[in-house]
Amino acid sequence: MTKSDGVTALYPGSFDPVHNGHLDIIVRARRVFGRVVVAVATNVGKQAMFSTEDRVEMLRAAMAGQEGIEVRAFEGLTVEFAASIRAGVIVRGLRANEDFEFELKMAAMNKRLHPEIETIFMMTSPEYAYLSSTLIREVTGFGGSVHGLIPPTVEERLARRPKP
Ligand code: ADP
Repeated sequence: MTKSDGVTALYPGSFDPVHNGHLDIIVRARRVFGRVVVAVATNVGKQAMFSTEDRVEMLRAAMAGQEGIEVRAFEGLTVEFAASIRAGVIVRGLRANEDFEFELKMAAMNKRLHPEIETIFMMTSPEYAYLSSTLIREVTGFGGSVHGLIPPTVEERLARRPKP
């Protein structure tokens, strides 16, 4: 047992919808930490494609049967939710420079609010470096295929949506 086995890691995001870049980070985080709680933010604004319930459901389906991984919805500040479930670590995925600028500020603020919680970054796997939920929504919104970039449950849900 390593020191991180007993640590809960929180992986927060909008996941609107979840894609394979997210799943890759979840699986890799679980290899490092004993428990990974994937936290779906409820406050993503009016432009969300999927409801919180749907986003949670799709993540749960994608993660079914994987031990040590839970999916929960949360409201309010991520770092407060992390503290409430006694997570020692917040995991974030990093893609490009734009992510870095934003994440640096966020990590500093979270550290100020809860110095006991560390933010840890995992670099995107190169094959998912360009992938974002926004891009998935845009491409599918115009009828393009995102096959192979999202889990099957998400693909089914997207297929059920009215075509443009
Ligand atoms: P947010 O609404 O917090 O930006 P997202 O749902 O877009 O959340 O993403 C959640 C987390 O997953 C963030 O840490 C984000 O940087 C990371 N992430 C998103 N897409 C990728 C990807 N393709 N590769 C690695 N990490 C990613």
